Amino acid sequence: MRTKIVAGNWKMNNDLYSSINLISHIKNELNKNKFETKIIICPPFTSLETASTLLKGSSIFLGAQNMYCEESGAFTGEISPLMLKSVGCEYVVLGHSERRTIFQESNQLVNQKIRAAVKYSLKPIFCIGETLKEREQNKTFDVIEKQIREGLEGFNENELGNLIIAYEPVWAIGTGRNASPEQAQEVHKFIRKLIEKIFSSTFAENLIIQYGGSVKPENSKDLMSQPDIDGALVGGACLKSDSFLKIIESAE
Ligand code: PEP
Repeated sequence: MRTKIVAGNWKMNNDLYSSINLISHIKNELNKNKFETKIIICPPFTSLETASTLLKGSSIFLGAQNMYCEESGAFTGEISPLMLKSVGCEYVVLGHSERRTIFQESNQLVNQKIRAAVKYSLKPIFCIGETLKEREQNKTFDVIEKQIREGLEGFNENELGNLIIAYEPVWAIGTGRNASPEQAQEVHKFIRKLIEKIFSSTFAENLIIQYGGSVKPENSKDLMSQPDIDGALVGGACLKSDSFLKIIESAE
């Protein structure tokens, strides 16, 4: 049995003050119930240390939205895995489509970042997904396969025990247009089969594969009831505690 994981990607939203506000609202709501679902929030870098302090003693885990693959050095503007560890991060989102498209991150760079996450014991949430054009040209499975093979090249399954894959069709991110549960399940099943081919059936069976792309309270239950969908990576709907909480409830 895989535990569902719901992660909130705040993107470039919330300064320190509003981060404190949102975290206290989420904590208040969560205190009302016990959840089986694992919950992660990924605030901006500038709020991580405070978030870590506020989350102490709660059942919410902390993640970052990105990092660089080097430990330290002349990489102006970048953040290293050790820096994330030092402010209490346990997870890190890598290869998000906004990083790939706006900041030209390649599969090779994402691979190096996953390598760095593994080295410093950060748990990678490895994002993959096709664009609308690729879907319309029937290239979805080719794109997904290439992203996985290149992103995970050189790893063995023992190194990837903490890996989470997030399937996020680019055309569904921030657009309000989610993949249908059937469309998402089809790709999740393909991902699990591919992981089985590359690694092993046990590893594939235990791998958490989240869906991301316009997840909201109205569609989260149908998406997460699919057999190969093990949770959600949520953008817009995680910025309000009530919608984030409804999504978590629907994962239960
Ligand atoms: C995301 O940021 O990973 C995401 C899926 O965003 P949204 O839920 O807003 O589509």
